[in-house]
Amino acid sequence: MDTVTLSKKLSVKKSYDVIVCGGGVAGVAAAVTVANRGNSVLLIEKSNILGGLATLGLVNLFVPMCNGNGKQIIFGLCEKWARLSAKYGYDTIPKEWKNGEPSEPTNVRYIQRYSPYIFALQLTEEITSSGADILFDCLACDPIMEGSICKGVITESKSGTELYACKTLIDVTGDCDVLRRGGIPTVAGENFYSYFGKMIDLASCKLAVEKGDIRYAFTGVSGGNINLYGDNQPQDIPKWSGLTVEEVTDYLVRNQHAMLENIKKDDRLSRDIAMLPLMPNFRTTCRIDGDYTLRVSDAYRHFDDSVCAINDFDHRFHLFEVPLRTLCRRDCPNIVTAGRSASGAGYGWDVLRVIPPAILTGQAAAHAACQSIEEKTAIACVDIKTLQRSLEKDNVMIHFPDEYVPEDRTVIIHGKNAVDIDGGHN
Ligand SMILES: Cc1cc2nc3c(=O)[nH]c(=O)nc-3n(C[C@H](O)[C@H](O)[C@H](O)COP(=O)(O)OP(=O)(O)OC[C@H]3O[C@@H](n4cnc5c(N)ncnc54)[C@H](O)[C@@H]3O)c2cc1C
Repeated sequence: MDTVTLSKKLSVKKSYDVIVCGGGVAGVAAAVTVANRGNSVLLIEKSNILGGLATLGLVNLFVPMCNGNGKQIIFGLCEKWARLSAKYGYDTIPKEWKNGEPSEPTNVRYIQRYSPYIFALQLTEEITSSGADILFDCLACDPIMEGSICKGVITESKSGTELYACKTLIDVTGDCDVLRRGGIPTVAGENFYSYFGKMIDLASCKLAVEKGDIRYAFTGVSGGNINLYGDNQPQDIPKWSGLTVEEVTDYLVRNQHAMLENIKKDDRLSRDIAMLPLMPNFRTTCRIDGDYTLRVSDAYRHFDDSVCAINDFDHRFHLFEVPLRTLCRRDCPNIVTAGRSASGAGYGWDVLRVIPPAILTGQAAAHAACQSIEEKTAIACVDIKTLQRSLEKDNVMIHFPDEYVPEDRTVIIHGKNAVDIDGGHN
């Protein structure tokens, strides 16, 4: 057999104002926001829990949500969820931030390391209480495109192949799976080794008992785990884009081999692996080629179409604004993205993709999608002041205050000047 032709007539199972493909933090934020506005929304998630990398991937840290002086930048649903995660799971919010922004300047940053699985259960509660519909264990496959307009999405699940119709679609699969299949321009990234699980061992269990705090029971175990900047990636191992089944498999096989080698050294009776990442831990697989691409050289720059202010997690004083144009394209009227598939380049993408900004861009994509239905216009063309007002009502900071900008505005990333890294902006 060389080829087969597949053809099947599908009827629309249900129609929604908005379909959200992918239930990572960006997707859950988007679906909750749409539902809160009173629009109908379906969230489609291919795994069995919500949260994506932030739960399934065991990336259980809200990176700093403030600048380096104790001024909070990230609010909105991210602030709500960071606090929520501390309510029934571990609470690692620094004492300076326990009651909100400290009254005195501090160099202690506002972070929260949480229990990934308890947070996942809380996200399910957030979704169901918002009134959004959800499908678990369901793959969003091809979008139905009429020209550049998306009319719906085909799903694969236990129920077989089905069709859901929508007025707007938010692709937050993290990998732009739906955008790519719809022929919308995207840009591939590259990934280093990045695979880690949670271990327990006799010493960590003893420490947890002594401290009366279960989080000390977990330690880390890594496969090939290279730092954020890719230092020490073995020269002979190609970087993975993560966009073909062969690459995903190669990444998982190599990382799992490396993890097994690491644990072979331990006494087998003294430890066990408690959690493994249940999705590939790729950071930057694929992003929309948006109408604007955020770069590190955009640090401290105000944008008229900003949908949120964000801070750099690794460099204390850098501040950015995220233009709506990073989430959409004018020639793609009713599809928008958010989270780690927003349009950023190099370290600009890194700043944009972590959990706090992913939640905020999820909120922004949701408001923009609903507003475009009301205004009968393309998502890229919605009235920006109205959008910003909706986000401000949701407690999102749109523009960072100028008094937070340091006198020395030089942007150095991992020892390099921003202009040398991305050639400045054009
Ligand atoms: C190694 C590593 C370390 C990191 N460390 C941190 C950190 O310490 N702190 C931090 O804030 N951020 C960190 N990040 C980044 C952060 O975790 C992610 O960028 C962020 O969680 C992305 O959220 P998202 O919703 O955009 O995408 P994802 O979390 O990737 O969610 C996408 C969701 O879509 C689902 N999906 C995919 N395809 C389909 C489909 N076709 N149909 C249906 N569902 C689909 C997936 O199952 C998943 O649930 C790290 C990332 C990595 C890889």
